[in-house]
Amino acid sequence: MTRIFSGIKPTGHLTLGNYLGALRQWVEVDQHRAESLFCVVDLHALTVEHDPARVRRLSRQAATLMLAAGLDPERCAVFVQSHVDEHARLSYLLECVANDGEMRRMIQYKEKSVRERERGGSVRLSLLTYPVLMAADILAYGADEVPVGEDQTQHVELTRDLAVRFNQRYGHTFVVPRATPPKVAARVMDLQEPTSKMGKSHESGAGIVYLLDEPEVVRKKILRAVTDSGREVVYDREGKPGVSNLLEILAACEGRGPEELSGAFDSYGELKKATAEAVVELLRPVRERHRELCAEPGRVDAVLRAGAEKARAMARPTVDAAYRAMGL
Ligand code: ADP
Repeated sequence: MTRIFSGIKPTGHLTLGNYLGALRQWVEVDQHRAESLFCVVDLHALTVEHDPARVRRLSRQAATLMLAAGLDPERCAVFVQSHVDEHARLSYLLECVANDGEMRRMIQYKEKSVRERERGGSVRLSLLTYPVLMAADILAYGADEVPVGEDQTQHVELTRDLAVRFNQRYGHTFVVPRATPPKVAARVMDLQEPTSKMGKSHESGAGIVYLLDEPEVVRKKILRAVTDSGREVVYDREGKPGVSNLLEILAACEGRGPEELSGAFDSYGELKKATAEAVVELLRPVRERHRELCAEPGRVDAVLRAGAEKARAMARPTVDAAYRAMGL
């Protein structure tokens, strides 16, 4: 059976981008067709300056939202990365297989390290080695498929390279995985800055719809979205990034392609209203279920404990085999 691994970083509150670009597909498709593991990758949240209490709170919230969105612990493992030691154990072995040059070539490292230096901070070594830990996350479970947005495809390529290199050097140990980008809404853009991704770690929240925003807040953010010159509502990513982003969000909510909606609205205002209502309806059940789960903290604890146990049992034989293969 196909095996899938994917994760979410607890570096901020989960966004509509995380939902449309990842979570919804995990819930609606992936957990039904494959043996799946979905993880809150909290070790990855330590690569930049962080507040420990906030990371713990956000991890818990992300896990609760994953369940609220419909991940079914009977069908898949939902767990927190740091609860399973195998990730860190394997990461070190893979650091002994990776080269510093290939790590420095990673686009995300280049971008984020520049940002950290501009802020006057130092760059943590873990920011450089983070894709190795991500490779360990995937390879420990023998995952065949990694459903991630296009921003992560370079890291999955590195994971493939490391798996192949390890297998050649030390004998066949790892499955070589592949990235599987989602079919719709692969990239939801910021409502105020539609040329950059709607990311949970961005500082300003005005262009970001969070899954736990109240309906009134969601409406306000979408009605205030930046649009483009002209008045025609057509799908054109290059020429009309703001309008196209709204069309893409609305189409994703309705499970169709954005081109199908070109010409369906007479004004930007109409498009915004329709998009706002569609997003409010889309998120309503998730928010409600989240509220219910917050009232049952013991239930979430039990799910995460069972998820970690299941994950550990799956990862341990592979990681132990890698230790032996390398001479330990
Ligand atoms: P973030 O960029 O919000 O920190 P993560 O690295 O935690 O996201 O990614 C979790 C998943 O959500 C990944 O599969 C990522 O590709 C997806 N994702 C994040 N932001 C967006 C977005 N704006 N549009 C589409 N998918 C997204």
